[in-house]
Amino acid sequence: MTNFVTDYEKEIMESSSLEDLLLVVKRANTLCKMFSEECILKIFDLCDAYWMHNGNPKKPHAMLTSGYCSNGFFNCLEVLKYSQFSNFLAQQLALLIRKEFGNISIDWVIGSPMAGITFAHDVCRALGAKISFFTEKDYTRSKKMLWNRTVIPEGETVLQIEELITTAQTLDNVQEAIIEGNPHPINFLPFIGVLVHRPAKLPVPEYNGRKVISAIEKEIWATNPEDCALCKQGSTPYRPKQNWSKLTSKQ
Ligand SMILES: [Zn+2]
Repeated sequence: MTNFVTDYEKEIMESSSLEDLLLVVKRANTLCKMFSEECILKIFDLCDAYWMHNGNPKKPHAMLTSGYCSNGFFNCLEVLKYSQFSNFLAQQLALLIRKEFGNISIDWVIGSPMAGITFAHDVCRALGAKISFFTEKDYTRSKKMLWNRTVIPEGETVLQIEELITTAQTLDNVQEAIIEGNPHPINFLPFIGVLVHRPAKLPVPEYNGRKVISAIEKEIWATNPEDCALCKQGSTPYRPKQNWSKLTSKQ
């Protein structure tokens, strides 16, 4: 019997252009099977949305706009702007959630602006959950979120979805806004779903008592150049946008 997932995984890994990859993923979207993290990273790679230092000091590393050095880089929007990829990745995350938590009842799936809103919507559909909703940026309070368009009925379950987590800050802000903006206590599920989990140090077993379910998990640090282990070993720091081909070794 043919192992369909493996065949699709092979096609994904062998795709050399974005157009080829979109066609493969479009077909793979009908499968409802889990793919390897390597396959998912291949999508990020072909979208020029991912780079990770391999530990070899001869290879350059990234200098962020903050002036900090880093060993990795993700830009989810460059992947999620393709609806086929967003569908596919949402389905992968939904499968991981169902694998871990079975048929748990999920009433609300809530994302945060901007890329997280459309992704959470796709995850909601993939999970067969009831309602997809979102918090908004609070332009009057720095780094705060708002919930003021609807009410979550008492007892209904809430799942938070993010496209990318570096620290707990956005997660906490979203949770705080949902609590503040509703008249009843909120029944948050004991886990959160995220496409890319990239904290400075792994493992992170939970945020605020909620377990992390992620499709991609990588330890990515950012540090002052004076404390950068890669600079000390002779690796050159480059700005990723202007030097993408040097970082990724793509010609
Ligand atoms: Zn450095």
